[in-house]
Amino acid sequence: MTTIDSLSAVLPAGAVLSDPDVIERYRRDSAAAPTAGTPLAVVRATCTEDVQEVLRWASAHRVAVVPRGAGSGLSGGADAVDGAIVLSTERMRDIRIDVATRTAVVQPGLTNIEVKRAAAEHGLWYPPDPASVDISSIGGNAATNAGGLCCVKYGVTGDYVLGMQVVLADGTAVRLGGPRLKDVAGLSLTKLFVGSEGILGVITELTLRLIPAQSPASTVVALFGSVNDAANAVVAITGLLRPAMLEFMDHASINAVEDHLKMGLDRSARAMLLVQSDAPGAAADEVAAILAECEKCGATEVFATDDPAEGAAFTAARRAMFPAVEKMGSLLLEDVGVPIPQLPAMVTGVEDIAAECDVLICMVAHAGDGNTHPVIVFDPTDADATDRAHRAFARIMELAIALGGTITGEHGVGRLKRDWLPAQLGDDVMALTQSIKDALDPHGILNPGAVLH
Ligand SMILES: Cc1cc2nc3c(=O)[nH]c(=O)nc-3n(C[C@H](O)[C@H](O)[C@H](O)COP(=O)(O)OP(=O)(O)OC[C@H]3O[C@@H](n4cnc5c(N)ncnc54)[C@H](O)[C@@H]3O)c2cc1C
Repeated sequence: MTTIDSLSAVLPAGAVLSDPDVIERYRRDSAAAPTAGTPLAVVRATCTEDVQEVLRWASAHRVAVVPRGAGSGLSGGADAVDGAIVLSTERMRDIRIDVATRTAVVQPGLTNIEVKRAAAEHGLWYPPDPASVDISSIGGNAATNAGGLCCVKYGVTGDYVLGMQVVLADGTAVRLGGPRLKDVAGLSLTKLFVGSEGILGVITELTLRLIPAQSPASTVVALFGSVNDAANAVVAITGLLRPAMLEFMDHASINAVEDHLKMGLDRSARAMLLVQSDAPGAAADEVAAILAECEKCGATEVFATDDPAEGAAFTAARRAMFPAVEKMGSLLLEDVGVPIPQLPAMVTGVEDIAAECDVLICMVAHAGDGNTHPVIVFDPTDADATDRAHRAFARIMELAIALGGTITGEHGVGRLKRDWLPAQLGDDVMALTQSIKDALDPHGILNPGAVLH
């Protein structure tokens, strides 16, 4: 019996796939990095027991396992390693809503939008809303601690994970936390696995906190003559109130989205803010304050709408930025974040880097969180352009660190940003991180090369 046959023997028929065409579809995440390896096989688990079998087998044979949700990640975190098993959770799709505890117990393979829809059937809401809401898995969201557009007011994925079942490297399944709003028994191990990018265990079930449905939001759109003015408006607005959304698009992003959607965005604007208020009974006051702050900061045009369809159209424009820019060339995607007062320095610094490295950078931001996505667009057939793009990629992360920020606000370190992690964390925190990894995964089989070398 070959090694892979011994794995197939302990799993349901059809779970192990090794056809080259199938393997090709599971090799990379959405960053489409050329460095992804070729796995031995793809396993599509259907339950926790399947995941346990894979990890027991992988531990015994010292084979690497790359956990994979929907592959929408943007940091190479789910990229295959040569000879590994790619362990897909896409067939693990159960969900149970418990109205009494306002929780959802979900398997990792559901998409974020499916969780939202199931909650909405009970008048409840699961807030975290990455722009990939339609395509990313809830397991991947937990493994990356995904953020999104409404996180500025409602928090990130980790704020909604009350508990989980996770399978450790040796195949042991443990339950952490549960449907309790307060629970300080023992160490915060649930939080340790949130954002662990598949290097500590495989999440096979999540208990998620749900909240009452959101009130309808009013939307403010503000256009600016410079990214600096727009960023100053963000600082001013967040100093006054907590909007339900505060997104930023620069000139290049506005134009890329306008090319893609043709919805009438103002192509001449140097920057645009999209701000929402859903404060029950106070949205009008918040909207007035937002309009006033934008005007004080030099907005060239501002308008507000309480028409949900109009607000949704602008939100869709913001969400369309990645697909729009993807059409323009190869991309290097940044996810740097800074403390809010440093946002003007970050966005103007990115413009300077684009000019100095002579590269096109399209920038959007979850601006209310200080989390920016400068996306470097380049022609991969041009060696010099590729080199300049990589230089800009490094310089943007260095700038974020110098401003007291982070190399990744929500996408994770994955494989594409790990070289910059020591510069942010320092040697002592890197050593602590490595010792946690070694304790939980002594043979280093879980997603090797992600986060840590
Ligand atoms: C158009 C677009 C817009 C996006 N917008 C946002 C955004 O606004 N905010 C944001 O945060 N992200 C965004 N992303 C990035 C991405 O969607 C998120 O990182 C998402 O959480 C990844 O989920 P996934 O299921 O695709 O995970 P994958 O890409 O499959 O995996 C991501 C990481 O999680 C690990 N992993 C996956 N499942 C498990 C599991 N069950 N157990 C343990 N580890 C696991 C993988 O090993 C990998 O390290 C966007 C991506 C795209 C393509």
